[in-house]
Amino acid sequence: MKKNLNKNMIKRLIFVIVFVLIVVSVILIIQNTNKTEKALKKLGYSKEDITVITEKLSETDVEKVLDMEYNQKLASIISAQYYIPNNLDRYLAYSPKTDNIDDIISIVNVGADNEWYTNTEETNLDDGIKMLVNKYHYLNTDYLPDDIVEISNWYAYEGHSTKKEVYDKYVSMWKAANEEGLTLLVNSSYRTFEDQQNEYDMSNDDYASKPGFSEHQTGLALDIVTYNIIGNEFENTDEFKWLQKNAHKYGFILRYPKDKEHITGYNYESWHYRYLGKELATKVKESDLTYDEYYAYYCEYKKGC
Ligand SMILES: [Zn+2]
Repeated sequence: MKKNLNKNMIKRLIFVIVFVLIVVSVILIIQNTNKTEKALKKLGYSKEDITVITEKLSETDVEKVLDMEYNQKLASIISAQYYIPNNLDRYLAYSPKTDNIDDIISIVNVGADNEWYTNTEETNLDDGIKMLVNKYHYLNTDYLPDDIVEISNWYAYEGHSTKKEVYDKYVSMWKAANEEGLTLLVNSSYRTFEDQQNEYDMSNDDYASKPGFSEHQTGLALDIVTYNIIGNEFENTDEFKWLQKNAHKYGFILRYPKDKEHITGYNYESWHYRYLGKELATKVKESDLTYDEYYAYYCEYKKGC
């Protein structure tokens, strides 16, 4: 009898202790949330901002925000489609430079909040045909792609070469365009580090890249024009219009689009096409992102491209 009583008492006691602990925790959580909300409000954030901030940011990031001055763009930045949590500090640091939220996100994601050719790292060669080469990702002096083949004069000006896979797809594309009465012509293709050095010495930073930083060294880039056309005159040709509609079906994307100079680091080049394979080229085209942005978000951050 006594034993049973004791057992019951212990059970009740445990129940009471657990109940009290739960109540205290709930009170503490509510108090803490209120404290955070109050502190955010005091900094100048609106009720809507506070909801976004507490929903989207980790506790550590909220602490960070609390240590900073009010930032009018914060809620929009962290709600942006291509927001990457690790970049929060850099978005905020870059935010006074433009009111365009998408630009803040893109510029920081690709690393263009740093001067061109600074904060550089070696291209990840394991990416294969997806490798990113730009003003922040370089190939070593001695990088030589394998499977380089010569392009027949039928499809190119003299003396051009590219990777075999790219060549095969380019020829298919050439034939499809040709069936519609159009003629594509390659006027620049695979370049060694030394070729690029010569090109760079003769040109300027806006067009030619520094040796090691050129996509042409990958063997995956082709400059495509048509007869008697040079430079951006190419964009007025039917060949260009055809490529806009069809290039991705053969694995190619327009690499340096119009109005994206601040992201790619290159002036618009209607002639420069990069091979990524059909699947990825189609995804990049549909995303309407430059490959630099696409790579930063999907390949690096989401780890799937
Ligand atoms: Zn090019």
